[in-house]
Amino acid sequence: MKISVDWNRCEGHGICTEQAPKVFSLDDEGELSYPYENTDIPDELAPGARSAIGACPVAALKEQQ
Ligand code: SF4
Repeated sequence: MKISVDWNRCEGHGICTEQAPKVFSLDDEGELSYPYENTDIPDELAPGARSAIGACPVAALKEQQ
């Protein structure tokens, strides 16, 4: 699976990092760090990543088909 981040929406709440800490993290400046842009997320990390989509309060995360 792939997830796209709408960087215009993301406000760095970091709730996604709680759901999937190996996929999403915050850098030292509180900005989202996301290494899987346009890259498949490993299957074992997909359940947490899907939870993060639903948990983001500004709907910045979308699963790509
Ligand atoms: S939960 Fe949403 S707004 Fe917060 S850092 Fe993650 S993608 Fe950005």
